[in-house]
Amino acid sequence: MQLGFYGAAETVTGSLYLLQVNGKNILIDCGLYQGKREDMFQKNRNFPFDPAEIDHLVVTHAHIDHTGNIPNLVRKGFSGPIHATVPTTELCEVMLRDSAYIQEKDVEFVNKIRRKQNKPPFKPIYTSKDVEDTLPLFTSYDYDETFSLGKGISVTFRDAGHILGSAGILFEINEQGKQYRLGFSGDIGRPNMPLMHDPNKLRDLTHLVMESTYGGRNHGGFENTEDEIAKIVTDVAYSGGKLIIPAFAVGRTQLLIYLLHKLYDNHRIPDIPIFVDSPMAYKATQIFIKHRDLFDRETQRIFVTDDRSIFDFKNLTFIETVDESKALNSISYPHIIISASGMAEGGRILHHLRNNVGNRKSTVLFVGYAAKHTLARKILDGDPVVKIFGIEHKVKCTVKKLDSFSAHADRHELLQYITHCSPEKLEKIYLVHGEPEQINLFKDAVQSQGYTIAIPTEGEVMEL
Ligand SMILES: [Zn+2]
Ligand SMILES: [Zn+2]
Repeated sequence: MQLGFYGAAETVTGSLYLLQVNGKNILIDCGLYQGKREDMFQKNRNFPFDPAEIDHLVVTHAHIDHTGNIPNLVRKGFSGPIHATVPTTELCEVMLRDSAYIQEKDVEFVNKIRRKQNKPPFKPIYTSKDVEDTLPLFTSYDYDETFSLGKGISVTFRDAGHILGSAGILFEINEQGKQYRLGFSGDIGRPNMPLMHDPNKLRDLTHLVMESTYGGRNHGGFENTEDEIAKIVTDVAYSGGKLIIPAFAVGRTQLLIYLLHKLYDNHRIPDIPIFVDSPMAYKATQIFIKHRDLFDRETQRIFVTDDRSIFDFKNLTFIETVDESKALNSISYPHIIISASGMAEGGRILHHLRNNVGNRKSTVLFVGYAAKHTLARKILDGDPVVKIFGIEHKVKCTVKKLDSFSAHADRHELLQYITHCSPEKLEKIYLVHGEPEQINLFKDAVQSQGYTIAIPTEGEVMEL
């Protein structure tokens, strides 16, 4: 059995793993690499294997760094089944269509420049047509339902508590009489977070491929987060400013709406309008509502039993058209704008940041992970000047960050995750989906508990 680490190795983005066992080629995740533009273009365009020879694709969750390159895989010849949970399948439909639109727009922009330089135009990595060819390949499952890929290989999705539909994947494999329990953690959520269940840990594994985004950092409990948000909103309201929150359209945005709704109901934030400016967030929210039975008990208790919608209250407006989005800029009274993308690499958030980073009255609040080289990271790192749409802007706004809002387990919670696997039985943990500093900090903690660690580099193939 061989495992190839072709993405999210020593980085957080572009998850892509190839498992070769019993004559089958099984891909786990097929994400877009997000980072520097030139790197993105090269890395996402070509696969280090022949997509036509892949038998199965198994997907952990709908985030684009785990699914965003599937249409390109299909375009390049993959025609096998794509296995995912029911909500992941539904979210992928929305997200991949949106992603194709972005790919097409991006290439248009690049080609404008190339034309001026008399260079031949590029084709988009994939198009809407490729997405439509992809969607029928999805096969959906419930959590904890075991299914077979043939040749002694079976698969079960366990709730990872990260976003709606997110899963850790358990592979039970019989290779020439030897039994393996190979786990892919996917992105691991946090215990005691609103909406999502606590992560259902993969147990008794022989091998584990594990995310380590925050392997070196503790977030602090979520208890104080409500207070912190209430304070930030109140400050903005009384100073007459705007609160701009870049947030992933799937997961972060719904959690923010949930919290603001709860704070509003409890009269803990002033009565100011909240705009969710992301068509994808709207569509994703509809899928969240449809699967509200998957939310945790507290959410059910607060909202579902008295039959009110979690994602619908008086102050909340979903913005749909571009004109409505532009009109937000001329509102002078205090308000909140939640918009995608979370790392401020594209989408409508760029317009809101362009209009607000230079305004001392405005506050920009980051609630998710910001990868290296992204605009979000630059603002967070305190760059005095940032480029948006190629134009330099001085940063004068207030910048805030809430780590506890993360959808990723922290160091302590990651260590908790492996407690159901004994170091005697678990032969090796492969640390992925983390930047080198975080992985190395985490490695020391895990090794001190007696586990054996590997830190795969990109393109490395390991024998299991
Ligand atoms: Zn994720
Ligand atoms: Zn991820």
